[in-house]
Amino acid sequence: MRIPKITTILMIALIVALVIVVAVLAPRTISDYNTLQTERSATPTPTANVQSMMSVTIDPYNTPAPTAVLLKIGIKGDGVKKAQQRLKDLGYYSGEVDGAYGTGTAESVKAFQEQHELESDGVAGENTLNVLYSDLAQTFVPTPTPDITPSSLSKGDKNETVSLMQARLKELGYYSGAVDGDFGGGTQESVRLFQRQNGLDVDGIAAQMTLAALYAADAKKASEPKAFDPSELPILVNSKNTVDKDYMPEDLVTLKNVIPSSAANIKGNAIEGDRTAVAALQTMFEAAIGEGISDWQVSAGYRSFKYQQTLFDQQVAEYQSEGMSKSRATSATKLTVADPGASEHHTGLAFDITVAGTTFKGTKQQIWLTKNCWDYGFIIRYQEDKEDITGIIAECWHVRYVGTEHSLTMLDKNQCLEEYLGQA
Ligand SMILES: [Zn+2]
Repeated sequence: MRIPKITTILMIALIVALVIVVAVLAPRTISDYNTLQTERSATPTPTANVQSMMSVTIDPYNTPAPTAVLLKIGIKGDGVKKAQQRLKDLGYYSGEVDGAYGTGTAESVKAFQEQHELESDGVAGENTLNVLYSDLAQTFVPTPTPDITPSSLSKGDKNETVSLMQARLKELGYYSGAVDGDFGGGTQESVRLFQRQNGLDVDGIAAQMTLAALYAADAKKASEPKAFDPSELPILVNSKNTVDKDYMPEDLVTLKNVIPSSAANIKGNAIEGDRTAVAALQTMFEAAIGEGISDWQVSAGYRSFKYQQTLFDQQVAEYQSEGMSKSRATSATKLTVADPGASEHHTGLAFDITVAGTTFKGTKQQIWLTKNCWDYGFIIRYQEDKEDITGIIAECWHVRYVGTEHSLTMLDKNQCLEEYLGQA
């Protein structure tokens, strides 16, 4: 239908009048802007003239950028806030519009710069700001991610991909917790278990190799935990019975992931121990707490051959720095630090139990441990009256898991491990 000329002219006049009224009267609030947007869409397509006039008068972003200020990490204020809002509207920024220019803002500025072929330094200077607030600013187009490269998942991650992974680990019998997309300690332990049973590097991080193996059609199901065989004699590790440098216990777990902080404080994130022994440790702590003895701390667990070597070398170096000859420093070190291969900590069955801020000896925890650890399958491995047999100065904090079948007999017979195994 052809609109008569006079109507067109009237309509344009009306629109122009409306725009001027709004521009003059309306303070720049969001609701006014929204009202205008509604009116704008209700009116017939404006002519080019009206369009440019509208954008000049009402575009909230079209005020010139302050040229003196460079926006960069560390800067705070309304200028930053405005840039964040603009970047957010265009899809570059997903953080909070808080007026603080942090790394998130810098990253989004960088992405904006890259897409607009500006120098991409993450600093919003005059050029960047001019483009940002102009009609040339484009909405964010994400660069396509390369095919099927699974991102690496690790502790602390929370997302859908974690849920998928948990569901798969559960299906295969490695995971028994909630499928909640939250990569916590339990999830990390099940990733480690999957890695161990599938011959992968055991680091608890689900990177490409691990994820590929996990989603493979022939992914191995979890094997049952090895039941402790009481007829099997406990392993003896001492200066005469060493483990070789590649020795590695089969079933290590990270204590922090398994033992709740309500039971004991685990000193450091990396302490590992044999799965069965760690479970016994937790049961023991919980029993002690039930009797009113708390504040337990675990200071050491599994140690690799290499780590023991480092400990040994450090102690030798310390004695040498105090003026001892190398051979004297070495023999002095042997009194308190086991030779690499000769430490019980290599087995994953030995733990150092402490109480923060004490030397442990004489604390109520030490007295409880000495009396009760046997009931949970642990022995006080290095006792004062056995020093000449074990060759180790008494360590009231060092417990060793042997299982109750053995620990209770050893308690009854007052035998240290060497005596019990006929190796004294
Ligand atoms: Zn120890």
